[in-house]
Amino acid sequence: MKPVIALVGRPNVGKSTLFNRLTKSRDAIVADFAGLTRDRHYGDGKLGAHEFIVIDTGGFEPTAETGIIKEMAKQTRQAVAEADAVIFVVDVRGGLSAQDHDIASYLRTSGKKVVLAANKAEGMQESPLLGEFYELGLGEPHPISSAHGQGIRSLVELALDGLLPQDEPEDELADGSEDRPIRLAVAGRPNVGKSTLINTWLGEERLVAFDMPGTTRDAISVPFERNGQRFQLIDTAGLRRKGKVFEAIEKFSVVKTLQAISDANVVVLLVDAQEGVSEQDAHIAGYILDAGRAVVIAINKWDAIDSYQREMLERSIESRLAFLKFAPVLHISALKRQGLGPLWQAIGDAWASATKKMPTPQLTRVLLEAVQFQQPKRAGAFRPKLRYAHQGGQNPPLVVIHGNALDHITDAYKRFLEGRFRAHFKLSGTPMRIELRSSK
Ligand code: GDP
Ligand code: GDP
Repeated sequence: MKPVIALVGRPNVGKSTLFNRLTKSRDAIVADFAGLTRDRHYGDGKLGAHEFIVIDTGGFEPTAETGIIKEMAKQTRQAVAEADAVIFVVDVRGGLSAQDHDIASYLRTSGKKVVLAANKAEGMQESPLLGEFYELGLGEPHPISSAHGQGIRSLVELALDGLLPQDEPEDELADGSEDRPIRLAVAGRPNVGKSTLINTWLGEERLVAFDMPGTTRDAISVPFERNGQRFQLIDTAGLRRKGKVFEAIEKFSVVKTLQAISDANVVVLLVDAQEGVSEQDAHIAGYILDAGRAVVIAINKWDAIDSYQREMLERSIESRLAFLKFAPVLHISALKRQGLGPLWQAIGDAWASATKKMPTPQLTRVLLEAVQFQQPKRAGAFRPKLRYAHQGGQNPPLVVIHGNALDHITDAYKRFLEGRFRAHFKLSGTPMRIELRSSK
């Protein structure tokens, strides 16, 4: 599981700037807890080979008693509770404030590991201004500049120190791993039907539980086999195991959802037919895409809506989940056990696509045929020249294209090529990546 770092501090100290620098993502994951002006943001961070989850929080005033400010404080407390480590951001230029003291004393009682970041410290590594932050009783302030990218690496190393898994066995699926179970996660908002679906699955006759070393009975990680294929259902956020069945618990944890997605090979994204595609569904979907996971969209409670609603729903999926248009959309009723066969089929296809082997000669042939069908646009004196392609990775499939002047290939042309590769190799339910490599 990826470690979680929360960024905490009063407004305007530079938390968002730091968040953007750590995640470099355009699409922060936002939890849409209704009625909030400023939410917690979640994103994926990466430092060298290490991955972690970052939570940005709004301004924090632990002593606030009413209104939005109090809500923001509550959000921050939740973020701290979910985190393995906290980066407490203060503003060197603004100096120490009473609020900083309040936050510090809250953090000291939280029992979490806290690293103190003195932001906006560009050009003042040795500044005497840093000294006053010792008063917070959180140890040494680490000068950083979020805006200029200074001191960030060592700051994050400190925060992650001791949290990273030691020598984790290489789990990337590759050749010769047919025996390994497909790691399956069911993601979706509370009440969408996750526990109903899982209980229905586990109650199916064709589904056989098997023993796997290291799986305890209580952990929500269930190994099972269906039609000869092994699966492992991984910890699904918001569920608890009670005897043989699963039940929904009130609390929905975004962090758990994100961790489950990064831990999975295939994600079943459940959408509630009665509720339609929510903002939060779209954010989860965006995260699945960023994580490069294979995904199947299952519209649950299909039994409960009429044909007009069905049509409206189809349209809203087309528009709101347009960026997942490679994902098959299934209509199911977990409660009435409808549509489950096709869902299994789609899960299997998605995984087969994600791990498809694409030999160089075939890839190159598809590439050259595509170019013959439609040439890339000339850019000034340059006409990009595409020569050959090879597979650079699986899960998701990565196609590396070699040639000259490839910097001039447009995104639209890349999408055109992706379409040709997808059609030829029948890739469904997996994102795919294309990398262009120009020779000098
Ligand atoms: P947040 O409210 O804590 O999320 O703060 P923001 O990230 O929105 O930043 C508040 C202001 O501080 C913005 O105007 C940023 O451009 C500025 N800022 C952030 N980081 C730095 C930094 O490292 N140096 C300087 N000089 N300004 C910064
Ligand atoms: P979870 O919070 O995602 O685990 O959702 P639950 O599995 O607890 O389901 C929430 C509610 O939706 C329960 O009342 C279920 O009976 C109902 N539900 C689940 N699946 C279906 C379905 O396919 N059709 C209908 N009509 N209701 C369903």
